[in-house]
Amino acid sequence: MDSSKRFHGWQRWLRFLLVLLISFGCIVGLNNAALQHTLEASIAQEVSPSTTPKPSASSLQPSPIASPSPQPVANPALQQLQQLGTAIAPKPVPKLNHFPYPQADPNTLITVGHYGQRIERLAPEAAIAWQKMVSAAREEKVYIIPISGFRSVAEQTQLFNARVRRWGSQIAAAKVIAPPGYSEHHTGYVMDLGDGRARNLDVTTAFARSSVYKWMQKHGKEFGFELSFPQNNFQKISYEPWHWRFVGSPAAMQLFAAGRPQAMPVQPNQMPLLTPQSRSKSGNG
Ligand SMILES: [Zn+2]
Repeated sequence: MDSSKRFHGWQRWLRFLLVLLISFGCIVGLNNAALQHTLEASIAQEVSPSTTPKPSASSLQPSPIASPSPQPVANPALQQLQQLGTAIAPKPVPKLNHFPYPQADPNTLITVGHYGQRIERLAPEAAIAWQKMVSAAREEKVYIIPISGFRSVAEQTQLFNARVRRWGSQIAAAKVIAPPGYSEHHTGYVMDLGDGRARNLDVTTAFARSSVYKWMQKHGKEFGFELSFPQNNFQKISYEPWHWRFVGSPAAMQLFAAGRPQAMPVQPNQMPLLTPQSRSKSGNG
């Protein structure tokens, strides 16, 4: 008797579940656009190898361990839609014209300065050239400061996701920032520069008016540094007068080969020696 009742109870419950699932099917069909919106947020997190399934709009914290997300969900239908959303294969991250770059081993990097509380690091040969360049500029009362050097893929993921939230889509975000795995900053051969006497120009196109930018245009390549994204660059990446990469060693040149077909071909043995005398010998830039 009892077991038969229980059996009928289960049957009713299963029927109810079936109706519920069919309803979800309709909701999914009719509200593709709404679901797409949910997906957008989920996919933004998918670009990281270590992410939580549901991003929080305010959180920029890295989440190396997926937490069980104890957020209260009033509507179980909504919860199921979100689960469906994460189950669908993510769209590939739009790269636009960014090239993939390997991440340097952080243990091999050298600290070259600070930006606020943050330590800025470069690969050894770039760090040596950087220090010489900063000293040479200082002699001419030009004060180069490091804003952003090496960046891990995880850090880039946070920055990229923040831009996705700000600009509404990955495509819009990729126009102003490289997706994770596609930033030159991963290599340890890149630095965003600032002018110690014009901090209001930090990471703006107006930095092109700074004395640091003018000095770099003249002398940067004497130390192996070149602008990655000048105006109208062939990659069609937005103009970044603050972003300079080091190409003064064979390893660095090889890394950036794909990103500089417009540049003059330079053989490693033609690179200027990074000695204190090299600057005065090289003349104008
Ligand atoms: Zn940069």
